[in-house]
Amino acid sequence: MALSFRLLLFFLLGLWGTTALASPALAAPAAVLAAPPAFDVEAATQRYLDTLSPAQKAKSDAYFEGGYWLLLWGVLYDIAVAGVFLGLGLSARIRGWLRGIRSENLRNLLYAAVYLLLAAVLSFPWTVYTGFFREHQYGLSNQTFGAWFSEALIGLALSVVIGSLLIMLLYLAIRRVGKNWWLWGTGLTVIFLIIGVFLAPIFISPLFNKYTPLPPSPIQESILSMARANLVPATNVYLVDASRQSKRISANVSGLGSTIRISLNDNLLKRSTPAEIQGVMGHELGHYVLNHIVKGLIFFSLLVLLGFVLVNWAFQRLVARYGARWGIAGLADIGGLPLLLVLFSVYSFLITPATNTIVRVSEIEADQFGLNAARQPDGFASVAMKLSEYRKISPGPWEEIIFFDHPSGHTRVRTAMQWKAEHLGNKQ
Ligand SMILES: [Zn+2]
Repeated sequence: MALSFRLLLFFLLGLWGTTALASPALAAPAAVLAAPPAFDVEAATQRYLDTLSPAQKAKSDAYFEGGYWLLLWGVLYDIAVAGVFLGLGLSARIRGWLRGIRSENLRNLLYAAVYLLLAAVLSFPWTVYTGFFREHQYGLSNQTFGAWFSEALIGLALSVVIGSLLIMLLYLAIRRVGKNWWLWGTGLTVIFLIIGVFLAPIFISPLFNKYTPLPPSPIQESILSMARANLVPATNVYLVDASRQSKRISANVSGLGSTIRISLNDNLLKRSTPAEIQGVMGHELGHYVLNHIVKGLIFFSLLVLLGFVLVNWAFQRLVARYGARWGIAGLADIGGLPLLLVLFSVYSFLITPATNTIVRVSEIEADQFGLNAARQPDGFASVAMKLSEYRKISPGPWEEIIFFDHPSGHTRVRTAMQWKAEHLGNKQ
């Protein structure tokens, strides 16, 4: 799961505003005092939405709505792959190959590595369609097949190394603590998650992209100024060469504690005005100031715990019934790994609305923070429109709750216009 939590910030509301107080000595007509001037939030929102042509809207709706189906087909594909391992006996065969190895830990480690590699091979048609062809079909990718494939191999290598180690420890816990293994499993997974988030900006992200400090410039200074105003101890903002992979505009906050950093991607820098960039970076600072990474880790740890409880329950029942047919002797049998993992896959599919909502709520908070920090409602609204390249602009309310991990463009533009309406009198 790409835990790319986007983050950042905010400005003190302007006590230094230049809207000088008019002398009250002369009574002005009531109509003049009834400021601010009328500003129709809905009409202003609609003007932004109308900048998207019907063809652009149809394309972005198709791309995003297709993603809903990909969630369902993805989990069905995972179930089919598990069927190959269990129903067709591939799992028992791998276990057989490794029978001669004396150390159970080593045997489990190798089983996990072989399983993860073979599962990736079986899933390759799905991976290449969703990750490469479909992205090209919608004009979102910049990559050649070779570049895409070599990155996919790096990702696979990482998941095999880290995944097998975690799985080996999990089975060690199963042997040592028996039926309370799910508690230890949660602990191990959360520790891996925390270490991963901490190390990602230093060891993982640089495997895919180059991060360089944003050179001194008016835009760098405006971002650092927002950071200082909001007590974000950033002396650097990083520029990431995301245009290697895609045309998508993005920025994020990654890391934990001493590794935390704010990055903006080169597409954002190239395709946006200073007001738009400030709008986005205000949002990222919001993630930082509001501790969204730590809060996200806490929420996800609770979901991991619930997952282990439910998966344990389902695993025991399924093995009691089909264990003999699938060649699974019990929980401690590494041959049951495909079942364990596909149950987690089904679980994460079922909780999609919950994970999306946890992330989306943080995003709404960051949007609000960013508007206050950057004071660029129009910059933020126009960036929200640009993001419609890959996110449906106007979903229904339930559709947004279930499928959106960020507010929709429509919601974001309206939020920005509402902010603008409330600040017309003291904008500068
Ligand atoms: Zn964000």
